[in-house]
Amino acid sequence: MAKDFLKGVADEYDVVVIGSGLAGMTSANILGRAGHRVLLLEQHYKLGGLATWFLRPGGHTFDISLHGFPHGMIKSCRRYWSRDIADRIVQLKNIRFDNPQFSLTTTFNREDFTRLLTTQFGIEAATVSEFFDTARGMNFYDDQSTTTRQLFDRFFPGRDDVVRLLMEPITYANGSTLEDPAITYGIVFSNFMSKGVFIYEGGTDDLVARMKKELVSNGVDIRINCPVEQIEVSDSPVQGTRVAGVRVHGRSIRCRAVVSNANLRTTVLKMIGPEKLDRDFVEQTEAVRLNNSSTQVYMALKPGEEIDESSGDLFFTSTAEEFRTDLLLSRDITSRTFSFYYPRTRPTKKERYAIVSSTNANWSDWADLNPADYEASKQDLIETTIEALEKYIPGVRDKIDRAEAATPRTFQHYTMHESGASFGTKFEGLAVSRALGDQISGMYHAGSVGIIMSGWLGAINYGVIVSNEVDQLLVRESSAV
Ligand SMILES: Cc1cc2nc3c(=O)[nH]c(=O)nc-3n(C[C@H](O)[C@H](O)[C@H](O)COP(=O)(O)OP(=O)(O)OC[C@H]3O[C@@H](n4cnc5c(N)ncnc54)[C@H](O)[C@@H]3O)c2cc1C
Repeated sequence: MAKDFLKGVADEYDVVVIGSGLAGMTSANILGRAGHRVLLLEQHYKLGGLATWFLRPGGHTFDISLHGFPHGMIKSCRRYWSRDIADRIVQLKNIRFDNPQFSLTTTFNREDFTRLLTTQFGIEAATVSEFFDTARGMNFYDDQSTTTRQLFDRFFPGRDDVVRLLMEPITYANGSTLEDPAITYGIVFSNFMSKGVFIYEGGTDDLVARMKKELVSNGVDIRINCPVEQIEVSDSPVQGTRVAGVRVHGRSIRCRAVVSNANLRTTVLKMIGPEKLDRDFVEQTEAVRLNNSSTQVYMALKPGEEIDESSGDLFFTSTAEEFRTDLLLSRDITSRTFSFYYPRTRPTKKERYAIVSSTNANWSDWADLNPADYEASKQDLIETTIEALEKYIPGVRDKIDRAEAATPRTFQHYTMHESGASFGTKFEGLAVSRALGDQISGMYHAGSVGIIMSGWLGAINYGVIVSNEVDQLLVRESSAV
């Protein structure tokens, strides 16, 4: 008989959280800690969403999205998770770039970027300082019509090399392009520049295990292998349109609020359904563009083989003569970002070295390949990536124990994100996500949207914002009774 993943589940909760990405788990944790009855439903057999990992024989563990996040993660994890988690966040000090326009190594913070821009790129110190201040002064309520390209044109006209240095890592970090609103660049760039790039020591598996422990200790009922089919909505003259529950494995579970961490478009257009929403809102949602997807190649070294730490922690490489968004996404790959994982990534585990190569990618380049072509394309991706890596680490091919590839189809398969979107939606998604509660009382969305609210830090912080709103609603309604 098939396992009942809902065995023992209650008929009613205060809140149901759909999806255990970082935003979903953070919301669930805060609401559980506040004393609400919380059910967390995850369709996959693992928690974490895109913050995930996989194991392979030989003692190898591969991280999917543990490449770097801003210093702000320490504060967010300390406040909303635990000191235990926050204390494991460490800086990556060796960030490298190599492309036809420049090669350099940096600690990736304002001080070091100022040094590079003034000495290596010959920009006036006053211009650099003004640029940093402008980026740091940006906030969500700023002018949204200026694009990132216009911002760069204002400070560094005709300096494609400078734009590349400033933009390439952010495109990698959140999929934003020169055509997106400048605030999506300024906010994320300044977050990184404040203190540099950080990762979680112990690996994603350790982080998610600690998060799960916290969730359990805060009373959250966690269910994996539970894909929510529908968000149920009731309509009454007294209460208006409001959330009534969710449907999962053919069973209805009642609740007073729902936080969906699933893809925004899927949440609105499929799980709720257009018929329950204002026409304008549906049109606005339909117009939301998804962010791009990614490909990755995971390479593990044979036990006993090593890579020198001078290889760097994060290495932005490109063979393209100039910086162009379409080249970054092209199936004909020119840009690869290598993450090097030394044994210090998992200090308590077996001594292993791994390298993950990531490239932004278009869903359309992979979506319709037949099985044979798909396999061949993956193999080609692996081969060309190892070739590219050989340039920097001669002989690495012989040291590799395993190499595998993930494509936009892989990301869609595991997270149910439409088109395998790696960073949620473009900027306009944020307004739709925020307005969902005005359409249906008790309905919220927390997950990567609008570029700003994506990545590990953005997702966690969005989970915090939304859980506070849910808490207020639940407390308000309880005290009104
Ligand atoms: C290749 C790659 C590299 C990245 N690198 C970095 C990095 O270095 N630094 C960084 O900060 N960010 C990185 N990111 C982005 C970052 O991982 C994500 O922005 C963040 O983890 C997303 O969190 P989220 O809360 O939005 O939810 P997601 O991680 O998208 O999770 C959503 C969850 O909802 C579940 N779900 C969906 N539908 C349903 C349903 N119907 N019922 C139940 N559950 C459902 C999914 O299974 C999933 O668990 C990377 C992303 C990718 C793809």
